[in-house]
Amino acid sequence: MGRHTDSVCKLCRREGVKLFLKGTRCHTPKCAVSKREYPPGMHPWRRGKPSAYGIQLREKQKLKRAYGIWERQFRRFFDVASHTKGNTGEALLLTAERRLDNVLTLIGFAMSRPQARQLIVHGHISVNGRRTTVPSLPVRDKMVIKPIGETATKHVRENIEQVKALSYRLPEWLTLKEDPPEAVVERLPRREEVSFEIQEQLIVELLSK
Ligand code: SF4
Repeated sequence: MGRHTDSVCKLCRREGVKLFLKGTRCHTPKCAVSKREYPPGMHPWRRGKPSAYGIQLREKQKLKRAYGIWERQFRRFFDVASHTKGNTGEALLLTAERRLDNVLTLIGFAMSRPQARQLIVHGHISVNGRRTTVPSLPVRDKMVIKPIGETATKHVRENIEQVKALSYRLPEWLTLKEDPPEAVVERLPRREEVSFEIQEQLIVELLSK
């Protein structure tokens, strides 16, 4: 692995979670996180035993970095989740998983979350026939997602081809038509389908203090 890849992958290795910052490489066994020999949350290069507070804080940072959420937005998510019926941690995690920029990465429209955000912010994506520029938009079931315009459609097609070549498996809650590219949210995701290994109850414990 070259120096450049190392520096880009450093964040993922530090968090022990795939942040999908390197495009195609992230979907292959070459990914630094996929290759790890230690379990999630264990960081052999760190000395000493972290405190309970430290572990909770790291889990929160992991979730924020994984989905690219700022602190203020994260607080808002947490407020909404804590007023939702059922498990607060699960609601928090599923809200993040349903972000439009995350969904674009999962369906292969974009090779990374930063790329997905760029596509959305620049107005290249429509949801249910309407252009949206909000990367954090939570998708709902039966929503239809498409690229807008020839250039974006070509770009999205190329990305889908690259992802397909990596034998990446689409999550079951999403379906994809390739030509022209169109994705449908068949249903909302379940806890076990979340893309990252995150212990959400630690975040709830931290924020409930
Ligand atoms: Fe590197 Fe991508 Fe794997 Fe992160 S997910 S470690 S950026 S290859």
